[in-house]
Amino acid sequence: MSEVLPLVTSGVEQRAGRAWLDRYGDSIMATYGVPQRVLVRGEGAYVWDADGGRYLDLLAGIATNVLGHAHPTLTGAVSAQLATLGHVSNFFATGPQVALAERLLDLLAAPEGSRVFFANSGAEANEGAFKIARRTGRPRILALEGAFHGRTLGALALTHKPAYREPFEPLPGGVEHLPFGDVDALRAAVDGTVAALVLEVVQGEGGVRSLPQGYLAAAREITSAHGALLVVDEVQTGIGRTGAWFAHTRHGVVPDVVTLAKGLGGGIPIGAVVAFGADVATLLGAGQHGTTFGGNPVASAAALATLHVIERDDLLANTRRVGARLRDGVLALRSPLVSEVSGEGLLLGIRLTPPLASALTAAALRAGFILNAVTPDVVRLAPPLVLTPEQADSFVAALPVLLAEAGTAQVTARADREA
Ligand SMILES: *Cc1c(COP(=O)(O)O)cnc(C)c1O
Repeated sequence: MSEVLPLVTSGVEQRAGRAWLDRYGDSIMATYGVPQRVLVRGEGAYVWDADGGRYLDLLAGIATNVLGHAHPTLTGAVSAQLATLGHVSNFFATGPQVALAERLLDLLAAPEGSRVFFANSGAEANEGAFKIARRTGRPRILALEGAFHGRTLGALALTHKPAYREPFEPLPGGVEHLPFGDVDALRAAVDGTVAALVLEVVQGEGGVRSLPQGYLAAAREITSAHGALLVVDEVQTGIGRTGAWFAHTRHGVVPDVVTLAKGLGGGIPIGAVVAFGADVATLLGAGQHGTTFGGNPVASAAALATLHVIERDDLLANTRRVGARLRDGVLALRSPLVSEVSGEGLLLGIRLTPPLASALTAAALRAGFILNAVTPDVVRLAPPLVLTPEQADSFVAALPVLLAEAGTAQVTARADREA
């Protein structure tokens, strides 16, 4: 029998959420704002808090738990691998790591000579892409306004939001941000001094904004014409999130580098940099990049299990079907507070006419739905790809009351401020 370690050393094993949150405040750095709930358990698309409340998880650990919570295939694969060989460092090869690299190259239809580098997060995957870009010897890297590529310094240099960047300047140099979706601005910016253009097919943190039709194809053509790399950050959009394995494939474009993380491990931390073709894949040579955990057998086994279940259960089709149902259901409410539902598959943004995203998210949490206010006027839905039509419908059915509560909360807050 395996030993179950208590979560606390004080001898008190069951504490209500309030007590944990007090201890959180006294022990965890205040980088995330104040959490509203303490979660203790999950199953499928539901999670439970420390006080027994159940929530439909429409955020999935930020587009990460693609198989939902406690999926038996994932927990089985992780447990079996951990019980066999948990970690070895990159001084050694392991089967899961190699099999996962092969699987990703296959899913991406990457050409001969393509190679994978494993990291542990999205930011780290983008650091790898940044270093590949530097190795071209060209000084400039282009990214888009509204972009989010992570919080480590290289990734942060690619990220656009001033509030994230400015406290940490100077950042690695040479990065310029171009207007979102503007082909003319891109054409004017790219010449032989550009190492790479880095972009998301759907900006997630930027408010669930899809690139305009034709932009990605134009970006491919323009970067190719000048020998610059096209780096597609699929950290959020990859691994089925938009209803395709990767969002860029629907635009008929072959990139030079793809970065992955979030959904890849189904909740176990792993990231990947995929370099397309031998020329790009050899830009980082021996000793030029590395990480202790990257491609760790447990994380690789988790990713293999995740990819296996997505394929076996045809979760791409489920993502398209349930995503369309959610979108149509929200639009059919004809709420004057909802101006648009953006995004693709199960990465959706409910755009609100007034900036009610935080108020709506708070009302939803009280009613048992986890959402995310990604910007002041956009609520993001990024549920597990196993979400059922009935679960989607339960949210749509609750939404009118939640919107009404959010509107009232905002009016009250404004009245309080003005009083
Ligand atoms: C979340 C995200 C990242 C950063 O990933 P982390 O794992 O949080 O470091 C990078 N790019 C995109 C598009 C993301 O959504």
